Amino acid sequence: MLDLAQLARYGENLVWLTDRYCWDSAAPGVQESRYPSASTSRDRTHCVLDDHVFDGGAVPNFQAGASTNLLLATLCREDHGCLLTGLEQVRLHIGEVLLEPGVFIRSIYFPDDDLLISLLTLNGSNSHNSRKRVEVAQVGSEGMVGLPLAFGSRRSIHRAVVQTTGTAMTMEWPHFRAAVDAYPALQHALGRYAHALIAQISQSVCCSQFHQVEGRLAQWLLLASARLHSNSLHFTHDGLANLLGVRRVGITQAAGNLQQRGLIQYRHGDIQLLDRQGLQASACECHEKVKDILEELGGRGRMG
Ligand SMILES: [Zn+2]
Repeated sequence: MLDLAQLARYGENLVWLTDRYCWDSAAPGVQESRYPSASTSRDRTHCVLDDHVFDGGAVPNFQAGASTNLLLATLCREDHGCLLTGLEQVRLHIGEVLLEPGVFIRSIYFPDDDLLISLLTLNGSNSHNSRKRVEVAQVGSEGMVGLPLAFGSRRSIHRAVVQTTGTAMTMEWPHFRAAVDAYPALQHALGRYAHALIAQISQSVCCSQFHQVEGRLAQWLLLASARLHSNSLHFTHDGLANLLGVRRVGITQAAGNLQQRGLIQYRHGDIQLLDRQGLQASACECHEKVKDILEELGGRGRMG
């Protein structure tokens, strides 16, 4: 058991602590402690991955299982664990709001393969009015949530909402800012991801303006399915209508058409993608464009 006085001797290499964290075990290398008394309902596991904290402890192989996030894996390859200090694994649940427009960003998130997050823009001051929001980009294991911090802004411009229960690696903002300032490789990787995110958001403007609901639904399902590595999804008509910024009846009709053609099976929100090729043929052009954008990030073969 390490107390705070002992930890303080390690100076600036320490992970950033808050009073809600508790620590146990002195296993070298990786130390985990669960704290159900955390200030949120999240099921947290805190992983201390900094070998400076434990004398002689080896830096664990981060890619061996701690995360499936592509951006994080790239960073760790290039900078040998530059971001590992201060990371913790967190389980996020459907409907959790990670960021709000105009509100300070306290943490950033690197989603794993099982997590899908929507970045939404809100129209009007009533943020609870579901008819006044639309998804501008999905974030999966190719990216991160909280990107404005990388460019000097602490305020989010989007609402970030969890769409599937899953895990992510998270980091408090002071750690992230310090890492961005310290590591050029991190700046480069985040710049590339920012470019990809801007491209997706630009494409979503075209999509919502010019493309039909059925094609938009097909491309949305394909991209969500590819990010989650699963042909089974769970989204209600209401949820999809909100994300695409269309009326519920439009989703019902589009999903009905796709089902009639044998491309999907849709029952009480459970969606099975039965014919990916057929769906690709039905999807609007955004599917290919966003797929290309994501594959350029290094996810070739992941976004089929
Ligand atoms: Zn489109």
